[in-house]
Amino acid sequence: MKKSEPPSACDDETQSVVCSKEIYNTLEDISEVIPIEDMESLEEVSRKFNVRIPNHYLSLIDLNNLENDPIYKQCMPSVEELEFSPVESADPLGEESMSPVSCLVHRYPDRVLLLVTGTCFMYCRHCTRKRLWEKGSCPTEDGELEKAFDYIRSTSSIREVVVSGGDPLTLSNSKIDWILSRLSEMDHIEVIRIGTRAPVVYPNRITESLCRILEKYEKLWVNVQFNHPSEIVEESILACKELQRCGIPVSNQSVLLRGINDDPEVMKELCQKLQSIRIRVYYLFQCDPVIGAHHFRTSVLKGIEILEYMRGHTSGMCIPTFVVDGVEGHGKVPVSPNYLLSMSEKGVLLRNYENKVFFYE
Ligand SMILES: *Cc1c(COP(=O)(O)O)cnc(C)c1O
Ligand code: SF4
Repeated sequence: MKKSEPPSACDDETQSVVCSKEIYNTLEDISEVIPIEDMESLEEVSRKFNVRIPNHYLSLIDLNNLENDPIYKQCMPSVEELEFSPVESADPLGEESMSPVSCLVHRYPDRVLLLVTGTCFMYCRHCTRKRLWEKGSCPTEDGELEKAFDYIRSTSSIREVVVSGGDPLTLSNSKIDWILSRLSEMDHIEVIRIGTRAPVVYPNRITESLCRILEKYEKLWVNVQFNHPSEIVEESILACKELQRCGIPVSNQSVLLRGINDDPEVMKELCQKLQSIRIRVYYLFQCDPVIGAHHFRTSVLKGIEILEYMRGHTSGMCIPTFVVDGVEGHGKVPVSPNYLLSMSEKGVLLRNYENKVFFYE
Protein backbone atom coordinates (compact mmCIF):
# COMPACT_ATOMS: atom_id res chain seq x y z
CA MET A 1 0.00 0.00 0.00
CA LYS A 2 1.28 3.44 -0.89
CA LYS A 3 1.76 5.53 2.19
CA SER A 4 0.64 9.15 2.10
CA GLU A 5 3.11 11.72 3.39
CA PRO A 6 2.38 12.93 6.91
CA PRO A 7 1.70 16.66 6.96
CA SER A 8 3.51 18.87 9.43
CA ALA A 9 2.00 19.30 12.87
CA CYS A 10 1.24 22.99 12.66
CA ASP A 11 0.19 24.31 9.28
CA ASP A 12 -3.20 25.94 9.38
CA GLU A 13 -5.82 26.86 11.94
CA THR A 14 -4.03 25.49 14.99
CA GLN A 15 -0.87 27.47 14.34
CA SER A 16 -2.80 30.68 14.81
CA VAL A 17 -4.79 29.12 17.63
CA VAL A 18 -2.05 28.21 20.05
CA CYS A 19 -0.09 31.35 19.27
CA SER A 20 -3.00 33.76 19.11
CA LYS A 21 -4.32 36.29 21.57
CA GLU A 22 -7.20 33.92 22.15
CA ILE A 23 -5.03 31.78 24.36
CA TYR A 24 -2.96 33.04 27.27
CA ASN A 25 0.37 31.31 27.71
CA THR A 26 1.90 33.28 30.55
CA LEU A 27 0.82 34.38 34.01
CA GLU A 28 1.69 37.90 33.04
CA ASP A 29 -0.88 37.87 30.23
CA ILE A 30 -3.41 36.13 32.46
CA SER A 31 -2.94 38.78 35.14
CA GLU A 32 -4.35 41.36 32.74
CA VAL A 33 -7.69 39.58 33.03
CA ILE A 34 -7.57 37.90 36.44
CA PRO A 35 -5.95 39.51 39.47
CA ILE A 36 -2.95 37.46 40.66
CA GLU A 37 -1.80 38.18 44.18
CA ASP A 38 1.04 35.78 44.70
CA MET A 39 2.80 36.12 41.35
CA GLU A 40 6.19 34.89 42.58
CA SER A 41 4.90 31.58 43.96
CA LEU A 42 2.69 30.94 40.97
CA GLU A 43 5.62 31.59 38.65
CA GLU A 44 7.42 28.84 40.53
CA VAL A 45 4.47 26.49 40.01
CA SER A 46 4.32 27.38 36.33
CA ARG A 47 8.00 26.49 35.92
CA LYS A 48 7.12 22.99 37.14
CA PHE A 49 3.73 22.58 35.46
CA ASN A 50 2.79 24.47 32.29
CA VAL A 51 0.12 27.13 32.35
CA ARG A 52 -2.15 27.85 29.39
CA ILE A 53 -5.74 29.14 29.41
CA PRO A 54 -7.95 30.11 26.47
CA ASN A 55 -9.75 33.41 26.92
CA HIS A 56 -13.11 31.73 26.46
CA TYR A 57 -12.47 29.63 29.57
CA LEU A 58 -11.09 32.61 31.52
CA SER A 59 -14.20 34.59 30.64
CA LEU A 60 -16.34 32.05 32.52
CA ILE A 61 -14.67 32.89 35.83
CA ASP A 62 -16.74 34.80 38.36
CA LEU A 63 -14.36 37.58 39.37
CA ASN A 64 -16.36 38.26 42.53
CA ASN A 65 -15.77 34.84 43.93
CA LEU A 66 -12.36 33.70 42.69
CA GLU A 67 -11.53 31.48 45.67
CA ASN A 68 -14.53 29.22 45.13
CA ASP A 69 -14.86 29.43 41.39
CA PRO A 70 -14.92 25.98 39.72
CA ILE A 71 -13.48 27.37 36.49
CA TYR A 72 -10.69 29.25 38.25
CA LYS A 73 -9.69 26.15 40.19
CA GLN A 74 -9.42 24.00 37.07
CA CYS A 75 -7.19 26.36 35.14
CA MET A 76 -5.24 28.62 37.51
CA PRO A 77 -2.08 27.20 39.07
CA SER A 78 -2.01 26.90 42.84
CA VAL A 79 0.86 26.61 45.32
CA GLU A 80 -0.81 23.41 46.51
CA GLU A 81 0.53 21.77 43.35
CA LEU A 82 4.00 21.82 44.89
CA GLU A 83 2.93 19.65 47.84
CA PHE A 84 3.74 16.12 46.85
CA SER A 85 2.48 13.06 48.64
CA PRO A 86 4.31 9.72 48.48
CA VAL A 87 1.35 7.99 46.80
CA GLU A 88 1.55 10.32 43.81
CA SER A 89 3.55 9.81 40.67
CA ALA A 90 4.07 11.32 37.24
CA ASP A 91 2.56 8.25 35.59
CA PRO A 92 -0.02 6.98 38.11
CA LEU A 93 -1.66 4.53 35.71
CA GLY A 94 1.64 2.91 34.74
CA GLU A 95 0.98 3.69 31.09
CA GLU A 96 4.65 3.79 30.13
CA SER A 97 5.04 0.15 31.17
CA MET A 98 2.18 -1.02 28.93
CA SER A 99 3.49 0.64 25.85
CA PRO A 100 4.55 -1.88 23.18
CA VAL A 101 5.60 1.00 20.93
CA SER A 102 6.11 4.64 21.80
CA CYS A 103 2.89 6.71 22.17
CA LEU A 104 0.67 3.65 22.35
CA VAL A 105 -0.80 2.10 25.50
CA HIS A 106 -2.22 -1.40 25.16
CA ARG A 107 -3.95 -2.20 28.45
CA TYR A 108 -7.16 -3.95 27.39
CA PRO A 109 -7.56 -6.80 24.91
CA ASP A 110 -9.52 -5.07 22.16
CA ARG A 111 -8.63 -1.38 22.39
CA VAL A 112 -5.57 0.82 22.53
CA LEU A 113 -4.81 4.35 23.59
CA LEU A 114 -2.84 6.40 21.06
CA LEU A 115 -1.18 9.50 22.50
CA VAL A 116 -0.73 11.78 19.50
CA THR A 117 0.39 14.99 21.20
CA GLY A 118 1.44 16.51 24.51
CA THR A 119 -0.09 19.89 23.72
CA CYS A 120 -3.44 21.13 25.06
CA PHE A 121 -5.54 24.26 24.60
CA MET A 122 -5.61 24.47 28.36
CA TYR A 123 -3.45 22.75 30.92
CA CYS A 124 -5.99 21.43 33.42
CA ARG A 125 -4.50 21.49 36.88
CA HIS A 126 -5.79 18.00 37.69
CA CYS A 127 -4.47 16.35 34.51
CA THR A 128 -3.31 12.72 34.76
CA ARG A 129 -0.90 13.06 31.83
CA LYS A 130 1.16 16.03 32.93
CA ARG A 131 4.19 13.95 32.04
CA LEU A 132 3.44 14.59 28.38
CA TRP A 133 3.25 18.38 28.76
CA GLU A 134 6.94 18.74 29.40
CA LYS A 135 7.83 18.33 25.80
CA GLY A 136 5.36 21.11 25.04
CA SER A 137 4.70 19.66 21.64
CA CYS A 138 3.91 16.43 19.94
CA PRO A 139 5.90 13.57 21.51
CA THR A 140 5.28 11.60 18.38
CA GLU A 141 7.54 12.15 15.46
CA ASP A 142 5.62 11.05 12.40
CA GLY A 143 7.94 8.05 12.19
CA GLU A 144 6.87 7.03 15.70
CA LEU A 145 3.23 7.37 14.73
CA GLU A 146 3.94 5.13 11.74
CA LYS A 147 5.28 2.49 14.14
CA ALA A 148 2.11 2.78 16.23
CA PHE A 149 0.00 2.39 13.08
CA ASP A 150 2.06 -0.68 12.14
CA TYR A 151 1.39 -2.21 15.57
CA ILE A 152 -2.35 -1.52 15.32
CA ARG A 153 -2.46 -2.84 11.76
CA SER A 154 -0.75 -6.08 12.70
CA THR A 155 -2.72 -6.69 15.92
CA SER A 156 -6.07 -8.01 14.74
CA SER A 157 -7.54 -8.21 18.26
CA ILE A 158 -7.73 -4.41 18.38
CA ARG A 159 -11.14 -3.10 17.34
CA GLU A 160 -11.04 0.38 18.85
CA VAL A 161 -8.44 3.15 19.00
CA VAL A 162 -8.73 5.93 21.56
CA VAL A 163 -6.91 8.95 20.12
CA SER A 164 -5.83 11.16 23.00
CA GLY A 165 -2.83 12.99 24.43
CA GLY A 166 -2.68 15.92 25.17
CA ASP A 167 -5.52 17.20 23.06
CA PRO A 168 -5.57 15.73 19.53
CA LEU A 169 -7.49 18.75 18.22
CA THR A 170 -4.42 20.95 18.82
CA LEU A 171 -2.96 19.23 15.76
CA SER A 172 -3.55 20.79 12.38
CA ASN A 173 -6.61 19.82 10.38
CA SER A 174 -4.48 18.04 7.81
CA LYS A 175 -2.64 16.03 10.44
CA ILE A 176 -5.93 15.04 12.10
CA ASP A 177 -7.24 14.03 8.69
CA TRP A 178 -4.10 11.97 8.09
CA ILE A 179 -4.33 10.14 11.45
CA LEU A 180 -8.02 9.38 11.02
CA SER A 181 -7.62 8.17 7.49
CA ARG A 182 -4.74 5.87 8.42
CA LEU A 183 -6.78 4.33 11.23
CA SER A 184 -10.07 4.09 9.42
CA GLU A 185 -8.56 2.30 6.42
CA MET A 186 -7.78 -0.65 8.72
CA ASP A 187 -10.72 -3.03 8.39
CA HIS A 188 -10.46 -4.47 11.92
CA ILE A 189 -10.72 -1.00 13.48
CA GLU A 190 -14.44 -0.52 14.01
CA VAL A 191 -14.35 2.47 16.32
CA ILE A 192 -12.13 5.55 16.59
CA ARG A 193 -12.64 7.67 19.67
CA ILE A 194 -11.13 11.15 20.04
CA GLY A 195 -10.71 12.49 23.58
CA THR A 196 -10.70 16.30 23.61
CA ARG A 197 -11.56 19.24 25.85
CA ALA A 198 -11.69 21.68 22.93
CA PRO A 199 -15.49 22.09 22.92
CA VAL A 200 -15.34 22.94 26.64
CA VAL A 201 -12.28 25.16 26.92
CA TYR A 202 -11.77 26.46 23.38
CA PRO A 203 -15.00 25.98 21.43
CA ASN A 204 -13.69 28.14 18.54
CA ARG A 205 -11.61 25.13 17.52
CA ILE A 206 -14.73 23.36 16.23
CA THR A 207 -14.66 25.17 12.92
CA GLU A 208 -16.51 24.51 9.72
CA SER A 209 -13.35 23.17 8.07
CA LEU A 210 -12.58 20.82 10.97
CA CYS A 211 -16.13 19.49 10.85
CA ARG A 212 -15.83 18.86 7.09
CA ILE A 213 -12.91 16.57 7.92
CA LEU A 214 -14.41 14.80 10.93
CA GLU A 215 -17.71 14.07 9.23
CA LYS A 216 -15.94 11.89 6.66
CA TYR A 217 -15.17 9.27 9.29
CA GLU A 218 -18.10 7.05 10.09
CA LYS A 219 -16.24 5.16 12.81
CA LEU A 220 -15.66 8.32 14.81
CA TRP A 221 -16.86 9.12 18.34
CA VAL A 222 -15.84 12.14 20.42
CA ASN A 223 -15.48 12.16 24.20
CA VAL A 224 -15.32 15.51 25.97
CA GLN A 225 -14.73 16.52 29.58
CA PHE A 226 -17.24 18.84 31.20
CA ASN A 227 -16.64 18.91 34.94
CA HIS A 228 -19.02 21.61 36.10
CA PRO A 229 -22.41 22.94 34.94
CA SER A 230 -21.01 26.45 34.55
CA GLU A 231 -18.88 25.17 31.64
CA ILE A 232 -22.06 24.46 29.70
CA VAL A 233 -22.63 27.80 27.98
CA GLU A 234 -23.77 28.96 24.56
CA GLU A 235 -20.37 28.54 22.90
CA SER A 236 -19.61 25.07 24.26
CA ILE A 237 -23.14 23.87 23.50
CA LEU A 238 -22.78 25.12 19.92
CA ALA A 239 -19.43 23.36 19.50
CA CYS A 240 -20.93 20.06 20.64
CA LYS A 241 -23.95 20.59 18.40
CA GLU A 242 -21.65 21.06 15.42
CA LEU A 243 -20.02 17.71 16.16
CA GLN A 244 -23.40 16.06 16.59
CA ARG A 245 -24.57 17.60 13.33
CA CYS A 246 -21.68 15.76 11.65
CA GLY A 247 -23.18 12.53 12.93
CA ILE A 248 -20.61 12.11 15.70
CA PRO A 249 -21.91 10.80 19.04
CA VAL A 250 -20.58 13.01 21.85
CA SER A 251 -20.04 11.51 25.31
CA ASN A 252 -18.71 13.02 28.50
CA GLN A 253 -16.08 11.88 31.00
CA SER A 254 -15.87 13.97 34.15
CA VAL A 255 -13.24 13.88 36.84
CA LEU A 256 -14.42 14.03 40.46
CA LEU A 257 -12.68 17.12 41.84
CA ARG A 258 -12.68 18.34 45.41
CA GLY A 259 -14.24 21.77 45.79
CA ILE A 260 -15.39 21.73 42.16
CA ASN A 261 -17.95 19.00 41.61
CA ASP A 262 -17.78 16.76 44.68
CA ASP A 263 -21.29 17.77 45.59
CA PRO A 264 -24.33 15.64 44.74
CA GLU A 265 -26.42 18.63 43.64
CA VAL A 266 -23.65 20.01 41.40
CA MET A 267 -23.04 16.61 39.82
CA LYS A 268 -26.77 16.08 39.27
CA GLU A 269 -27.09 19.47 37.60
CA LEU A 270 -24.05 18.77 35.41
CA CYS A 271 -25.36 15.41 34.27
CA GLN A 272 -28.89 16.66 33.68
CA LYS A 273 -27.61 19.58 31.62
CA LEU A 274 -25.46 17.20 29.58
CA GLN A 275 -28.44 14.97 28.94
CA SER A 276 -30.50 17.96 27.87
CA ILE A 277 -27.96 18.75 25.14
CA ARG A 278 -27.88 15.08 24.13
CA ILE A 279 -24.40 14.36 25.39
CA ARG A 280 -24.08 10.87 26.74
CA VAL A 281 -22.96 10.80 30.37
CA TYR A 282 -20.28 8.11 30.28
CA TYR A 283 -17.71 8.08 33.10
CA LEU A 284 -17.07 9.87 36.35
CA PHE A 285 -13.42 9.28 37.21
CA GLN A 286 -11.90 9.21 40.64
CA CYS A 287 -9.05 11.78 40.42
CA ASP A 288 -5.80 9.85 39.87
CA PRO A 289 -2.86 10.15 42.27
CA VAL A 290 -0.85 12.24 39.84
CA ILE A 291 1.75 14.73 41.03
CA GLY A 292 0.40 18.21 41.65
CA ALA A 293 -3.24 17.16 42.06
CA HIS A 294 -3.26 16.19 45.72
CA HIS A 295 -5.66 18.99 46.64
CA PHE A 296 -8.27 17.82 44.11
CA ARG A 297 -8.57 14.26 45.35
CA THR A 298 -11.61 13.11 47.28
CA SER A 299 -12.17 9.77 48.93
CA VAL A 300 -13.71 7.07 46.75
CA LEU A 301 -16.69 7.11 49.14
CA LYS A 302 -17.56 10.58 47.87
CA GLY A 303 -18.21 9.29 44.37
CA ILE A 304 -20.33 6.44 45.73
CA GLU A 305 -22.33 8.92 47.81
CA ILE A 306 -22.97 11.06 44.73
CA LEU A 307 -24.16 8.07 42.70
CA GLU A 308 -26.40 6.95 45.53
CA TYR A 309 -27.92 10.43 45.60
CA MET A 310 -28.68 10.29 41.89
CA ARG A 311 -29.82 6.71 41.29
CA GLY A 312 -33.60 6.53 41.17
CA HIS A 313 -33.97 10.23 41.86
CA THR A 314 -33.16 11.25 38.30
CA SER A 315 -33.09 9.67 34.87
CA GLY A 316 -30.86 6.65 34.62
CA MET A 317 -29.57 8.20 31.39
CA CYS A 318 -27.81 10.92 33.33
CA ILE A 319 -25.99 8.65 35.76
CA PRO A 320 -22.33 8.06 34.91
CA THR A 321 -20.37 4.95 35.71
CA PHE A 322 -18.01 5.88 38.53
CA VAL A 323 -14.58 4.38 37.91
CA VAL A 324 -11.36 4.14 39.81
CA ASP A 325 -8.39 3.68 37.50
CA GLY A 326 -6.13 1.33 39.45
CA VAL A 327 -2.53 2.40 39.91
CA GLU A 328 0.29 0.56 38.16
CA GLY A 329 -1.87 -0.49 35.27
CA HIS A 330 -4.63 -2.36 37.08
CA GLY A 331 -7.08 -0.58 34.81
CA LYS A 332 -10.53 0.88 35.30
CA VAL A 333 -12.72 -0.60 38.00
CA PRO A 334 -16.39 0.43 38.19
CA VAL A 335 -17.50 1.24 41.73
CA SER A 336 -21.10 1.71 42.75
CA PRO A 337 -23.40 1.80 45.76
CA ASN A 338 -24.41 -1.65 46.85
CA TYR A 339 -27.95 -2.64 45.96
CA LEU A 340 -27.36 -6.39 46.13
CA LEU A 341 -27.34 -7.29 49.84
CA SER A 342 -27.04 -11.06 49.54
CA MET A 343 -27.57 -13.81 47.01
CA SER A 344 -28.27 -17.52 46.99
CA GLU A 345 -29.78 -20.14 44.69
CA LYS A 346 -33.19 -19.13 46.03
CA GLY A 347 -32.93 -15.50 45.05
CA VAL A 348 -31.38 -12.17 45.89
CA LEU A 349 -31.89 -9.70 48.70
CA LEU A 350 -32.08 -6.25 47.17
CA ARG A 351 -32.27 -2.66 48.32
CA ASN A 352 -34.04 -0.02 46.23
CA TYR A 353 -33.15 3.66 45.94
CA GLU A 354 -35.57 4.49 48.76
CA ASN A 355 -33.66 2.10 51.01
CA LYS A 356 -36.47 -0.48 51.06
CA VAL A 357 -35.11 -3.99 51.36
CA PHE A 358 -36.90 -6.84 49.63
CA PHE A 359 -36.32 -10.41 48.57
CA TYR A 360 -36.52 -11.25 44.88
CA GLU A 361 -37.13 -14.94 44.23
C1 LIG B 1 -9.53 4.30 29.52
C2 LIG B 1 -8.70 3.53 28.61
C3 LIG B 1 -9.24 2.90 27.49
C4 LIG B 1 -10.72 2.96 27.17
O1 LIG B 1 -11.47 2.28 28.13
P1 LIG B 1 -13.06 2.27 28.08
O2 LIG B 1 -13.48 1.60 29.36
O3 LIG B 1 -13.44 1.49 26.87
O4 LIG B 1 -13.54 3.68 28.00
C5 LIG B 1 -8.40 2.18 26.69
N1 LIG B 1 -7.08 2.07 26.96
C6 LIG B 1 -6.55 2.65 28.03
C7 LIG B 1 -5.09 2.46 28.30
C8 LIG B 1 -7.32 3.42 28.90
O5 LIG B 1 -6.77 4.01 29.96
S1 SF4 C 1 -7.14 18.67 28.08
FE1 SF4 C 1 -6.93 16.58 28.90
S2 SF4 C 1 -4.78 16.04 28.51
FE2 SF4 C 1 -4.95 18.28 28.33
S3 SF4 C 1 -4.46 19.07 30.35
FE3 SF4 C 1 -6.69 18.86 30.26
S4 SF4 C 1 -7.07 16.81 31.13
FE4 SF4 C 1 -4.89 16.89 30.57
